[in-house]
Amino acid sequence: MADTAPSRSRDLDKLLLRAGNLVGPTFEPGAELRDDLQEYARILVVGAGGLGCELLKDLALSGFKNLEVIDMDRIEVSNLNRQFLFRMEDVGKPKAEVAAKRVMERVSGVNIVPHFCRIEDKDISFYNDFNIIVLGLDSIEARSYINAVACSFLEYETDDKPREETIKPMVDGGTEGFKGHARVIIPGVTPCFECTIWLFPPQVKFPLCTLAETPRTAAHCIEYAHLIKWDEVHSGKSFDPDDPEHMQWVYSEAVKRAELFGIPGVTYSLTQGVVKNIIPAIASTNAIISAACALETLKIASGCSKTLSNYLTYNGVAGLHIKVTEFVKDKDCLVCGPGVLIELDTLVTLEKFINLLEEHPKLQLAKASVTYRGKNLYMQAPPVLEEMTRSNLSLPLYDLMDKVAKDILHVTGVTGQSDKKTSCLRKLRVVFRGVDGVTDMDMAGGA
Ligand SMILES: [Zn+2]
Repeated sequence: MADTAPSRSRDLDKLLLRAGNLVGPTFEPGAELRDDLQEYARILVVGAGGLGCELLKDLALSGFKNLEVIDMDRIEVSNLNRQFLFRMEDVGKPKAEVAAKRVMERVSGVNIVPHFCRIEDKDISFYNDFNIIVLGLDSIEARSYINAVACSFLEYETDDKPREETIKPMVDGGTEGFKGHARVIIPGVTPCFECTIWLFPPQVKFPLCTLAETPRTAAHCIEYAHLIKWDEVHSGKSFDPDDPEHMQWVYSEAVKRAELFGIPGVTYSLTQGVVKNIIPAIASTNAIISAACALETLKIASGCSKTLSNYLTYNGVAGLHIKVTEFVKDKDCLVCGPGVLIELDTLVTLEKFINLLEEHPKLQLAKASVTYRGKNLYMQAPPVLEEMTRSNLSLPLYDLMDKVAKDILHVTGVTGQSDKKTSCLRKLRVVFRGVDGVTDMDMAGGA
């Protein structure tokens, strides 16, 4: 449908070809801007689920022509009510591949490259190829990982001045039922995901005393049956949320409990919802949040208007509230800051360095793989890379870093307590003691 192309560009032209009072500081209107945007801007969409489907469609219709999408999931029947690019016959196929294909069928001129894999499977350099990374994810861990990757490219001129060309902007969307958020992350300028990790409080659990003594809601009765009564009756046998008999038992106990306290509202589906912590996904919330994210992406890429500063929350639970909050950067952030400073002697081997990362109080990073300026110094996996890089372990890191006095290293590994290990990526500033070119400034202060 070649005849739709001019009309699509017509509306975009109104934004991109004319100056205005609300434009961003770097905006230079003109046909060249529009053409460059379409030809050169490369956007990565992370996630091809509810938000990802919307994002791909919105970005394609906003004139972006070079999109890529990464997602590790396959399509399930339960996705079809809102992930509108998928059909019954797609069930079982990779989301990224089907989503890319469907948008390309509908929007002429757009090229979308799908990646059916885990986000950790890609080299860090893969992510550096994009101008903007747009996140349509539902997990904190995945956001945290992509955020760390994007922030790892960031380099500072001085302690608080990021180098413009190393900034990798991100736009992050998230929804949960009737609620959602959209945020713009400009590493080094606005807070990164990790700076404001406290925005995601730990999951609400009801106090056990409330469940045991003063239940007030249907959910209290269900959690009583699930968390307290189950253990009393089934000594040692653990509850399996996917076993219908177990669920039925919890449901009938919850009904008894509710009758005792005169509390209405316990149903089988609510029991499933509370026990499995199911939050309904709502197509319209996804559409609203994606629209905000796609627009911010266009604004970042073109400068045609000032960007969101920097966190929008949407709440449609009781009435409708939209609010924008300007959060501030955590200057001690391990992820978007200049990087943890590590001082080493020139004789320290790579192996010793890797052990040091595990003991470092701020890092506590185990099973580290180390890269230097895109070169793999040591990789824990896959086995073939491990074997190829193993001989480096006994060499001094100073030599492996081409005998520079100081530079940035990237390490990936696992961090956290034994029951909750998460993969992470850290940028480190390595300074070698006693080498020409190292100043007192380099040795002072950490991240
Ligand atoms: Zn940060």
